[in-house]
Amino acid sequence: MLPDHFVLLAVEHPRAIGGLVVATIHPDARNGRPGVYGAARRRFPVPSDKVLEVPCPFCGADDSESWGRENGWTAVRCRSCGLVYVNPRPDDNEIAESTRLGMHRVSSGSLDVKTGFSRARVRGFRRRLQSVFSRGELGRVPLRCLDVEAGYGELLEALRGLVAPGTRLEGIEPCRSKVEAAAAKGLSVRDCDLEPVTETYDLVSAINVLSHVPDPRAFVASLHARLVPGGSLLLVTGNGGDIPRSDYPQRLQLPDHLLFVGRRHVSALLDQAGFTGIEPHAFRTALPRSPLFDLAGSGLAAVLRRRVGYSGAFRSLWMRGRLREAARARTPQVRPAGRPARVQPQPGPPQIVTASPAPRHGAPARWRRPAPGWPRAARWPSGYRPASPGASP
Ligand SMILES: [Zn+2]
Repeated sequence: MLPDHFVLLAVEHPRAIGGLVVATIHPDARNGRPGVYGAARRRFPVPSDKVLEVPCPFCGADDSESWGRENGWTAVRCRSCGLVYVNPRPDDNEIAESTRLGMHRVSSGSLDVKTGFSRARVRGFRRRLQSVFSRGELGRVPLRCLDVEAGYGELLEALRGLVAPGTRLEGIEPCRSKVEAAAAKGLSVRDCDLEPVTETYDLVSAINVLSHVPDPRAFVASLHARLVPGGSLLLVTGNGGDIPRSDYPQRLQLPDHLLFVGRRHVSALLDQAGFTGIEPHAFRTALPRSPLFDLAGSGLAAVLRRRVGYSGAFRSLWMRGRLREAARARTPQVRPAGRPARVQPQPGPPQIVTASPAPRHGAPARWRRPAPGWPRAARWPSGYRPASPGASP
């Protein structure tokens, strides 16, 4: 069956026959067809007027060395601070449009970064949430939670079984096809980015989002602005900025990934934004995600990941930051004007308004013990079912 839209591209492609490659390009990402992947020879697949040469987004230095190449794009490492970033990169409009479509222009046509709702991902999220948060923090009183770029809703689905009745779970996601997929799972997600969000929350999460933003400092500040005093931020990203390219276990997914930070970068970003109580958690997940693992089920996949995945230096960083009243008052944050007062959650089953980003990795390492306070059944979610009504999917 032919795709809705297709073009013939005459390019120098290693797999081209007679110099021609058929590449599918989908202006409407909702058709969900896979894009074209492949090595690239052209360096600037995006029109040159949509490409920016940029200094290091973390320290501002303009001194870098090549770190990795993929899809016609180059990631460089800043010689000053160690951040890895795509340079040149697509301009802001191109990034926003690609994020909305879940599709990026690459040398061979398009890179489709849409996947789908994953139960394995929900289980992995739940285990990590139980390592990072104590039971009392999530389950004692109703909270108001926002997951930023919530993807297909897996994080909110994981939270649903852990939070107190009456908790309000919301997600925002700029990619419409992901919003619709989350809605089909009974998860409610707003089709927008952070800018129009005027409410404030007890918990704001951004799972594997930092690597997709061109300005990490502004992004963390905008998360800070959506928290109530005493609220918590959960920021998850890989540690690509701490390791050589050879230790990065997956495709780089350039230019969907624009940044590869290290632990020190994330700690500094949170500190500079005014967060206190910064708490790093690192999980070993060296094996790439694979449909085979999903088919094998959590048991075999967990064994494989534990036994094989321990060899690499790659880590998934789950960073927590907290807001104190005083710290929040001192910080000259960009606050949305006219933000309404915080709505007190009403008792009742968790209200799911969600969606969640896609972690590229699965189960956490056993060496990190769950945070104290979770019942035994909840520590190992394979047999865990929340007792609160309405909490089960
Ligand atoms: Zn730098």
